[in-house]
Amino acid sequence: MKELKLTTVQEFDREDLEAGKAKKRLFIGLVAAAGTAVTLFLVLVLVLPIIGLRNIHPWAPYIFSVLVGSLILLVVWATVGLVLSILFGRSLLLFSRMRGLTIKLFLPLMILVGKLLGIPKDRIRSSFVKVNNDLVGRTDKRFKPGELLLLMPHCLQNSRCKMRLTYSIHNCKRCGKCPIDSLIGLSERYGIHLAIATGGTIARRIVVQRRPRMILAVACERDLASGIQDTYPLPVFGVLNFRPHGPCLDTNVPLDVLEQAIRRFMDPRWYPENRPVDLDKMRLVKGGGQSGREKKTTRAG
Ligand code: SF4
Repeated sequence: MKELKLTTVQEFDREDLEAGKAKKRLFIGLVAAAGTAVTLFLVLVLVLPIIGLRNIHPWAPYIFSVLVGSLILLVVWATVGLVLSILFGRSLLLFSRMRGLTIKLFLPLMILVGKLLGIPKDRIRSSFVKVNNDLVGRTDKRFKPGELLLLMPHCLQNSRCKMRLTYSIHNCKRCGKCPIDSLIGLSERYGIHLAIATGGTIARRIVVQRRPRMILAVACERDLASGIQDTYPLPVFGVLNFRPHGPCLDTNVPLDVLEQAIRRFMDPRWYPENRPVDLDKMRLVKGGGQSGREKKTTRAG
C-alpha cells in the first residue's frame, strides 16, 4: 500500500483550512450584502414619506424618522454584530441573545442575495453550517452522554440492505457493509443515543421524544441548514456527509470529524477512557458492544 507522506497530509490540512476560510468569507460577504440591502431599503422608506408626512402633522415626519431610524440601527447592529462575532469571536452588547434570530433572518436573505449573484444555494448553506458550527463551538458547556443525540440520515444505510432502522437502530445486523455499523460502535463507545431519520418530520419527532440538549447531526447542506433553523434554540453541530454516488444514495460520514465533535462537547469525565470499567462490562453483557467485524476478530483470536 502506498505510504501517505507527511507533506501530503500537511497539504490536505492547508487546503482544508483555506476551504474553511473561503466558506467564512462567503458567509460574511453575503451577510454584509443582505444587511446593506435592507439598510438601503429602510433609508428609502425613511426619506420618501418625509416629503408627504408634513401634510399629515408637523411632528409626523420626526416620529416616523425615529421609528425607521431605530430599525436601521437594529439592522446595522445585527449585521455588524454577526460579522464581528464570526471574525473575532466577540459579541456586541446583547448580541448573544440575538444570534439565533439573526441567523434565522439572515439565511433566507443570504440565499436571496446569493441567487441574484448566481451563487449556488448549497455553497451558501455549507457556509452557513460552517459559521453555525463556529458559533455553537464557542460554548463552554459540556454535556453528559444522555444529553447528546447523534442524528443520521437514512441515506447512510446500504441501499441493498433490507433492515428497517428508523424505528430501531438495533435492527442493524452489523455486517459492516455501510457506515451504520461503525456509527453504532461510536454511539456505544460514548454512550450517546443514535437515531436515523428519513426526513425532517421524523427528525423533529426524534428530537421531541429524546429531548437532547445538543444534537450532532450528519446530513447534506440542505437538510443541515433547515435542521439548524428548525431546532433553534437547540444547538446543532453539523457534519456534512460524503456523496460518492450522488445525493441520497449510499452516502458516507467522516467518522473522525464526528468523534472529534463528540469529544469537543462531551464532559471529559464521560469519555470512554475515563469511565468506570463496569459500564463497558455491563454494555458487553447486554450483547451490543461489538460490531460484526469486532466479533469476528474476537472469535478468530
Ligand atoms: S451495517 Fe449491514 S445490516 Fe447494518 S445497515 Fe449497514 S448494510 Fe444493513
